[in-house]
Amino acid sequence: MEELVALCKRRGFIFQSNEIYGGLQGLYDFGPLGVELKNNIKQSWWASMVYDRDDIEGLDASILTHPEVLKYSGHEDTFTDPMVDCKSCGERFRADQVPDYCKEDDLTEPRQFNLMFKTNVGPIDDGTSFGYLRPETAQQIFTNFKNVIDSTSRSLPFGIAQIGKAFRNEITPRNFIFRVREFEQMELEYFVDPGNDDEWHDKWVELRLAWWEAQGVPKEKIKLLDVEGKELAHYSKKTVDLMYEFPHGLEELEGIANRTDFDLGSHSKNQEDLEIKAKVAKNSSSNAKLAIQEQDTNKWVIPFVIEPSAGVERAFLAILNEAYREEELNDGKTRVLLSLKPHLAPIKAAVIPLKKNNKDLVDLAYKLKNQLQNMKLGRVVVENTGNIGKSYRKHDEIGTPVCITVDFDSLEKNKVTLRDRDDMSQESLDIEEISSFFQQKLSS
Ligand code: ATP
Repeated sequence: MEELVALCKRRGFIFQSNEIYGGLQGLYDFGPLGVELKNNIKQSWWASMVYDRDDIEGLDASILTHPEVLKYSGHEDTFTDPMVDCKSCGERFRADQVPDYCKEDDLTEPRQFNLMFKTNVGPIDDGTSFGYLRPETAQQIFTNFKNVIDSTSRSLPFGIAQIGKAFRNEITPRNFIFRVREFEQMELEYFVDPGNDDEWHDKWVELRLAWWEAQGVPKEKIKLLDVEGKELAHYSKKTVDLMYEFPHGLEELEGIANRTDFDLGSHSKNQEDLEIKAKVAKNSSSNAKLAIQEQDTNKWVIPFVIEPSAGVERAFLAILNEAYREEELNDGKTRVLLSLKPHLAPIKAAVIPLKKNNKDLVDLAYKLKNQLQNMKLGRVVVENTGNIGKSYRKHDEIGTPVCITVDFDSLEKNKVTLRDRDDMSQESLDIEEISSFFQQKLSS
């Protein structure tokens, strides 16, 4: 973990937030390379959900949330963690995360602590006009269920996907970006006919494992955990957690839950007419019937929902952890390498002029950079430090799949040298062939 943290700071992936004022615990900022990797992860998820399939729509809903949404969803009452104080060290911990150095006898009885951030909405601060920063993106998908079906004419099964910020006032944020107070979630709510839910749940577990594999986190590194007993959320019939061996231990990367008809049922009006299977509180505030009419029988049903929910920060950490290597080189030195899948790499190619002060070489390097940049496959840079070896090392370390060196042969014979990040092999290529090479490299 220390190596990843150091690399992230050194190369501009991740910084501690508000560091110049001493930092705020559980918050991180994504730097010039971090924002690229994060965007690429999100884009890959979005493409696999919304573009590659024909049964999922996207959504980007508000973060500030009406209190009634989080009342009927159960979050006001149950979105809590047990908290204990240690009388010896004076610190406060989540009851299941007390460090070894605290003795059992020094701990207070656990108290429930609600993890939601509450804030004023509007200019009056009398406690009546407040909202929450959403603790999960999911609820705003449920509140938009009717808007989406009315505007898209979807029938079951279909899904609504959303990527966005979520906030949890974690008692003990820790392990770098693994557990933070502000993070992003990539959530799909996939609505199915009640009765088909178990089958779809299994299917989504398989689909998500395949997605992780394509991001460089192989199936063998993920263990499936059937969440049981009091660990199972109040809305869930069954939850399968994808557990990954993070640098600090085996922990949840993504949760895939069968939320039944709990959420739509909880937020719906006319509940008594809808044969809701989950146990829901009576809703006297909602003005929408969150159900769908069956085509053949005209009967209104509340679909069941399968929810794959993954954190972007945990994805970032797992992907970085899988890609990170230190390799011994023939000359006895070592190199640090981020063997990221090309579609995730923050920088897709670095164009390096052999001599930093030679105008013709530098001009050609920029021309090539612009040509590749215009292909819109991601960020391409010119690396004009004048030291080829150092440039290669840097781009190995930040995961750039290919370096393109422009030398005098480029001016005279239209040839450039391509150097591969992973095996360090070099080949000479005609400038005309660069675009198709690049296209192919990034789709692999
Ligand atoms: P944990 O048990 O680790 O607290 P959770 O079960 O509360 O997680 P979910 O409510 O299932 O998490 O949230 C779905 C996903 O959101 C998680 O799998 C994780 O990737 C991400 N996530 C949840 N809480 C955090 C957090 N505090 N920091 C970063 N990511 C988080």
